[in-house]
Amino acid sequence: MIKGHHPSTNGKYVYSFDEGNKNMRDLLGGKGANLAEMTTIGIPVPFGFTITTEVCDVFSKTKEYPEKFADQLKDKLTFLEVRMGKKLGDKNDPLLVSVRSGAAASMPGMMDTVLNLGLNDETVEALSKKTGNERFAYDSYRRFIQMFGDVVMEVDHDLFEEAIEKIKAARGVKLDTELTADDLKELVVEYKKIVQEAKGRSFPDSPLEQLKLAIEAVFNSWNNDRAKTYRRLNNIAGLKGTAVNIQSMVFGNMGEDSGTGVAFTRNPSTGENEFYGEFLMNAQGEDVVAGIRTPIHISKLEEVNPKVYKQLLETRKVLEDHYKDMQDLEFTIEKGKLFLLQTRNGKRTAHAAVNVACDMVEEGLITKEEALLKVDPNALNQLLHPHIKRGADRKVVAKGLPASPGAACGKIVFTADAAQEWVVDRNEKVILVRKETSPEDIQGMYSAQGILTSRGGMTSHAAVVCRGMGKCCVAGCSDVIVNASAKKMIIGDLVLTEGDVITLDGSTGEVMAGEMEMEEPELTGNFKKIMEWADEVRTLKIRTNADTPADCKVAIEFGAEGIGLCRTEHMFFAEDRIHIVRQMILSKTTDERAKPLKKLQEIQKGDFVEIFKTMEDRPMTIRLLDPPLHEFLPEKEDKIEELANDFKISVEDLKVTISNLHEINPMLGHRGCRLGITFPDIYSMQVRAITEAAIEVSKKHKKVNVEIEIPLVGNINELIYLKKVTQDTIAEYKDDINFNYKIGTMIEVPRACLVADELAKEAEFFSFGTNDLTQMTLGFSRDDIGRFLKDYLEKGILERDPMAGIDQKGVGKLMELCVKLARKEKADFEIGICGEQGGDPESIEFCHRIGLSYVSCSPYRVPIARLAAAQSVIKYDK
Ligand code: PEP
Ligand code: MG
Repeated sequence: MIKGHHPSTNGKYVYSFDEGNKNMRDLLGGKGANLAEMTTIGIPVPFGFTITTEVCDVFSKTKEYPEKFADQLKDKLTFLEVRMGKKLGDKNDPLLVSVRSGAAASMPGMMDTVLNLGLNDETVEALSKKTGNERFAYDSYRRFIQMFGDVVMEVDHDLFEEAIEKIKAARGVKLDTELTADDLKELVVEYKKIVQEAKGRSFPDSPLEQLKLAIEAVFNSWNNDRAKTYRRLNNIAGLKGTAVNIQSMVFGNMGEDSGTGVAFTRNPSTGENEFYGEFLMNAQGEDVVAGIRTPIHISKLEEVNPKVYKQLLETRKVLEDHYKDMQDLEFTIEKGKLFLLQTRNGKRTAHAAVNVACDMVEEGLITKEEALLKVDPNALNQLLHPHIKRGADRKVVAKGLPASPGAACGKIVFTADAAQEWVVDRNEKVILVRKETSPEDIQGMYSAQGILTSRGGMTSHAAVVCRGMGKCCVAGCSDVIVNASAKKMIIGDLVLTEGDVITLDGSTGEVMAGEMEMEEPELTGNFKKIMEWADEVRTLKIRTNADTPADCKVAIEFGAEGIGLCRTEHMFFAEDRIHIVRQMILSKTTDERAKPLKKLQEIQKGDFVEIFKTMEDRPMTIRLLDPPLHEFLPEKEDKIEELANDFKISVEDLKVTISNLHEINPMLGHRGCRLGITFPDIYSMQVRAITEAAIEVSKKHKKVNVEIEIPLVGNINELIYLKKVTQDTIAEYKDDINFNYKIGTMIEVPRACLVADELAKEAEFFSFGTNDLTQMTLGFSRDDIGRFLKDYLEKGILERDPMAGIDQKGVGKLMELCVKLARKEKADFEIGICGEQGGDPESIEFCHRIGLSYVSCSPYRVPIARLAAAQSVIKYDK
């Protein structure tokens, strides 16, 4: 989770670019901090100033500004005017500024940018005279009204689009650039009319009023729905707000010697060390990202303007050397002069992140430890997921840009709402197909398996957002005609409608009709290198939650060092076994139960033999039966009848037995060790299966190290009783014991944490079952939390799903206490975690800090855990 370190209040609310630096993100936002840093290190940046996030915080809460803010704003504006030799609203040489938002964490969804602020009917004339370019002046003016109207005054931007299309049609031209100065003057009048009609008030003429409204709009956008959704989905919490950057304008649309572009210092998809980006001559920033004109590859700038290209390459190097990371740049060329408008650490695919990190170590730019911090553990998910089977026959129907790698397959939907509906209500996998995406689509994009757009480049909204989410995306696929209202996409003769299946390959840009077979990834090269570096650094051990030899194999390949949780009941559910399990449950006496138990013992032994062989001498925690017994019985009428027939009992009798097993609250009912207390013969059977398997495997292979685990203990007497059952059972084999074993318990009941010192006297290890511990500490049913979690997150009552990441203030406190009490009893006592949170990087950091011995997670999360564990050492121990 990205958390803000609350900046200290010193009464300074506005900083000129020469007053800040890159470490002031919390106060100046990422954009503001980096503009200040670039100014300081001598990169050409149009001068300006930043209003702090603290002002946003005050404004969001009170709708008022801090006391000295207005005076400071005036001072900084005057300072800017003096520096630039121009004044806002001046009738001869007006200063024009851009206004942009920028929080500490990069955050699409807020009000983004207003350019050319300061123009009105008078200043536009001055600009025209000063530049000798009337067309340019009026083009800037109409763009300003359009942007300001759209983002500050919230006038539907389609109205402006329609007006410009109308005038183009009337003049018989295709491109905006073909409109004359007079056409644009007419358009300005039209645009103002649109604003008047839509809002019932005129477009503000006063530049100071414009500035005031724009600042307010940025602050208000901090809490709009899109921004809030983005923060929720990306675990961004605790920030004060957004900063506002006010910067003197430079123009990329002053003719063919001007231009604008965006670039990455390395390839953000592959990580390759090549300058990567797009530009357009005679254009303003939004032209590059809007996908209206097709941008040109950055390397072509060398032909257009070799001097600026060389300067840009030098800037690329200076910035990478300075920031020691791949940068994402925005630049403008005004009449042959280069300006940088933004730099930030570039968003990249996991594939690129791993390659950039390794390359930079090799280039001597960063250390191995710095490299480890450059890879987001969660992003590794992208590398660990399947791609289209190699050599498969690809029925490619269209090709777009490889905007975000990986492969995805699903049913086509055409709106973000439909994506949501198909996924949530119908449990379908979908591909969202759009002309282009916007921040409004964010929730639908999150739900979809992959995104296909017919417009936009590698820096379009869809491409950038998908790379951030680690989601497969094919962008700018112009072969596809999207007709969202008819729920159709057309590719040549092929017409696909909502619900048809397609497959995307985000690494090649290919679109295929139908479903393709997927394949597991290869984890070699730089990925392996990063994992090895992580292993050198980390102190936490990484185990896996696995119940089958197949799971164990995958986990070992991913680097698991043992099993943290083997849920033995999972072995009961197979088709050929459930019948025997039911026989065991329906037995009325211990004698009657002995027969099915004997059969189950043989089956479980067989399973354990396979698992033990796979895991060799790695430690394995095997948990004894945990779930309430009713989970194994049928619910439906026909299945109950079938079972009654099988067991030759009456349906009525069976129904009575089932209803006797029914509990009002089974999660707090007859489960875990409570089953073992009632039916010690079931636990004995499992211990026999474990023991016999361990003896057999230790004899022929390596010596088995098994940890027998008793679940849901909250009272020392539960543990004492079941430990004795376990020991007595193992003692039946006393002369043959040739393996190592420990007997321990899960920590899942809050009381267990409170009496951990007592428990540690009897137990030989603990493992936090944070699924149950969270359920019982928060009183949130783990099976029902989904019904209200969304409201809790949306209303800011919870920052995160506590079932996904440890609730550190509550559950975490209990864990800390438990560790302290246990280690007071036995200093090197083994304590792990095997709840879902054990694979979550933030929770892993917490586990590291409180001194756990290992974390255990699902096989596919093992590499994520290895990296997160290494990062914990670098962040907290060094
Ligand atoms: C737990 O409660 O965290 C746990 C791992 O056990 P289960 O999920 O099987 O209840
Ligand atoms: Mg549990």
